Amino acid sequence: MLDLFQGEAAREHLPPISHEELSDEQVIEEMWRIKEELKDKVLVLGHHYQQDDIIQFADLKGDSLKLAQDASSIEKPYIVFCGVHFMAETADILTADDKTVILPDLAAGCSMADMADREEIDSAWDYLTSCTQEKIVPVTYINCAATLKDFVGQHDGSICTSSNAEKVIRWALDQGEKLLFFPDQHLGRNTCYKMGIGLDEMVTYNPNLPNGGLTPEKIQKAKVILWYGYCSVHQGFTAAQVRAIKEKDPETHVIVHPECSFDVVKAADEDGSTAYIINRVNELPAGSKIAIGTEINLVNRLAAAHPDKTITSLSPYQCLCTTMYRVRPRWLLASFRAIKEDKPINVIKVDKKVAAGSKKALDTMLSLS
Ligand code: SF4
Repeated sequence: MLDLFQGEAAREHLPPISHEELSDEQVIEEMWRIKEELKDKVLVLGHHYQQDDIIQFADLKGDSLKLAQDASSIEKPYIVFCGVHFMAETADILTADDKTVILPDLAAGCSMADMADREEIDSAWDYLTSCTQEKIVPVTYINCAATLKDFVGQHDGSICTSSNAEKVIRWALDQGEKLLFFPDQHLGRNTCYKMGIGLDEMVTYNPNLPNGGLTPEKIQKAKVILWYGYCSVHQGFTAAQVRAIKEKDPETHVIVHPECSFDVVKAADEDGSTAYIINRVNELPAGSKIAIGTEINLVNRLAAAHPDKTITSLSPYQCLCTTMYRVRPRWLLASFRAIKEDKPINVIKVDKKVAAGSKKALDTMLSLS
């Protein structure tokens, strides 16, 4: 098995159930047993990017928003979210107070979400709003901490997903003259460009530079201010890979996620959210050759589900989300055991005030969808 945790990382990430106590096979056997015992109490959610040995235990599979929404209508007291931290927070915000949301490994974060924190956004907002009289409307991609969702709720903005980004950005630009989009510069840039906004109307705010690296003049001139964040997984795809695939076989259809950079999206045949990619793969006729620019677990699962099509990763390096990978069977089993004892571990509880602001921003998005 691929071992991503070596040296210091391995020491910090010792499994909660040791290999001396249970072999890998015994872990899986015990999980099936406990899951059956807890079937009225536990709902297991599995994000598309999880490994097969985790996804097999998922009662529901999907993207982060769909999972959180579906969970809110199912009457089970415990929700185990096999995903990353911001997804478990969103599930906690959207589900009733008496439900307990668990993230099997609290170290399962998201590199993109970590590229913007509340303090940085507050300070950027103060600077940006001091530079212009025009109204700036904030929109955050759902891949961020709850404190940022709360920020947009407090400033009459909205959340978006990769499926509805265009609709939400259109709405935001109807509310004001400028858009502040965070934390993913690529989703923001790709979406705005598709809407007809020129690259020369967009600037990137880098919180590591004084004033984000932007002069007041640049801010006054811009229609769209993009936060500098990005997904480390989708950064692994390049336009050169698209060209290489097309040169080898021009009939290969290339579909990428809009978290990929602008030149990759431009070079690809089409781009869209995880749900869009799944639908397109379903729609394309038997015999199609498809190269996909998104996380490798989803690509592999699509390849297995469509043996009549040739489905490969766009990248030869098989881009894997290492933080999603932190949710391993031993961590999931530890969560199950703790629930069985009614002493849940790794509970995600969003502060009430933050949850209220976030909910407002989520409701704005849902009202637009
Ligand atoms: S794939 Fe990228 S955006 Fe999604 S959880 Fe992993 S690091 Fe975050």
